[in-house]
Amino acid sequence: LPAGDLTALDNEALKQFHATVRARYDAFKARGLKLDSTRGKPSAQQLDLSNALLGATDEEAARGGGDLRNYGGGVAGIPEARALFAPMLGAPAEQVIVAGNASLELMHDTIVYALLKGVPGGNAPWSTAPVTFLCPAPGYDRHFAICEQFGIKMIAIPLTGKGPDMDLVEKLVAEDASIKGMWCVPKYSNPTGESYSDETVERLARMKTAAPDFRLFWDNAYGVHHLTDTPHEVANILDACAAAGNPDRAFVYASTSKITFAGAGLALFGSSKANVAWMSKNMGFRSIGPDKPNQLRHVHFIQNIAGLTNLMKGHAALINPKMNAVLDVFESLLAGRGVASWTKPEGGYFISLDVRDGSAKRVVQLAEEAGVAMVPAGNTFPNGNDPRNANIRVAPTFPPLDSVKLAAEGIALATLVGVSEALLAERA
Ligand code: PMP
Repeated sequence: LPAGDLTALDNEALKQFHATVRARYDAFKARGLKLDSTRGKPSAQQLDLSNALLGATDEEAARGGGDLRNYGGGVAGIPEARALFAPMLGAPAEQVIVAGNASLELMHDTIVYALLKGVPGGNAPWSTAPVTFLCPAPGYDRHFAICEQFGIKMIAIPLTGKGPDMDLVEKLVAEDASIKGMWCVPKYSNPTGESYSDETVERLARMKTAAPDFRLFWDNAYGVHHLTDTPHEVANILDACAAAGNPDRAFVYASTSKITFAGAGLALFGSSKANVAWMSKNMGFRSIGPDKPNQLRHVHFIQNIAGLTNLMKGHAALINPKMNAVLDVFESLLAGRGVASWTKPEGGYFISLDVRDGSAKRVVQLAEEAGVAMVPAGNTFPNGNDPRNANIRVAPTFPPLDSVKLAAEGIALATLVGVSEALLAERA
């Protein structure tokens, strides 16, 4: 393929480029590959890192301070697990809840409790009036799906590389009392990989909100998921909120889904004393308590922060070659052509690809037709509506390395075909 910016080519050269890249795309498609770039799932090798969890401590679970196989101990989880994960949440152990296997459940349930019962500091259940959430975007589709499910209006907030556009956030929350919540993925955000700066955290903690019961849904899903030797640090939101006189503003979530087993890990919640008491009370109606033997397995397996750090290095060693493979393919096929830009993640699970405005849906369609399963374009925005029709989430962790390379090639060829097609149509 000739190098250079496609938008600078004259009509003949662009037609020629399109024909060449279309032929290469057709040849790729003719291979009938079945590749997957949909969900950010750990690979089998990543799951193998935690196989020692299996069968490790079940007998011990029957002894100890109480028989963990039985009912008892409450909804907040075993003390050892609460202590182990407290530093990850930035809360003291007594303000940590260790729950079931999915933090998404905790986020969903928090919103249900808030809608039906209200939160500390509020005057009424949220459901008694229209509710709006601020949604930094591109973001995590399942956050937006919870809002859709419960009729919560969403306002997309642009991301800046240091977190959400805070001028806009401050303006909106100050004037609109229906804004009760805001989704935040503060570290290695899904999918842009960015982390919130100290200034962003400070402004979120301090900002004046028209709603007295406004909450930050602080989903630190990738808090320890570094891919370099210079980990991102994000300021402690609970401390910042307390210092700003808004101690109950943040609900903090995390999980071990991408630390141990994605389907059989532990979900984590941390917040102020009042919020944790509120959450525990609500959870107590839903369940007698979590799977405690699984909590003890995790405590024995991970042990301490050093154990956690070591495990995460193992993940990084498996993920980095896959991230690099995608970046290499994008660099060689897409760089300098004026058709796309993409992130170089320093943590987390995703590469965020922005293709020329108006082209994402067509590019995803072409990639799908060539055998690369993708999440639908637009999924990274509230209500599936990417106003620029530009963003595509690339998820390279799950497939084996050779499939990751092929999938990246398929996505890059689809980008070149889709964008050159659009440019030709514009000129016709
Ligand atoms: N939050 C974010 C930002 C995620 O990317 C994911 C996983 N894709 C989750 C939450 C889901 O976490 P869990 O398995 O704990 O429900």
